[in-house]
Amino acid sequence: MISKRCTMCQTAYEGEDYFELRKFFSPSKQNKDGLESRCKVCKKEMAKKYRKSQIGISDKYKATNNKRNIASAYINNNVEHMATEEIEQAILMIQDRLKELKRELKKR
Ligand SMILES: [Zn+2]
Repeated sequence: MISKRCTMCQTAYEGEDYFELRKFFSPSKQNKDGLESRCKVCKKEMAKKYRKSQIGISDKYKATNNKRNIASAYINNNVEHMATEEIEQAILMIQDRLKELKRELKKR
């Protein structure tokens, strides 16, 4: 019988051998015993928290991406009826927007 304690929730799991402990811990090459130091329950919990922490970021990204899509759709739809000047203006607008997006990406 071997046991392994999760470093996060401190739960001690027991099993006949390594393979039984695999039910509670994912395999890991970094640890001597071949198992991760955190149990699967804790790993799941951490993944959930991570996803929650990412919600705001992805929404922000979607918003900027949407604006970009709308701008390019507008130009695609109207380019036939646009004067050269207008097209040039639109290109400048997109270039500015791209610079803005690049700055936003750097901040993250
Ligand atoms: Zn745990």
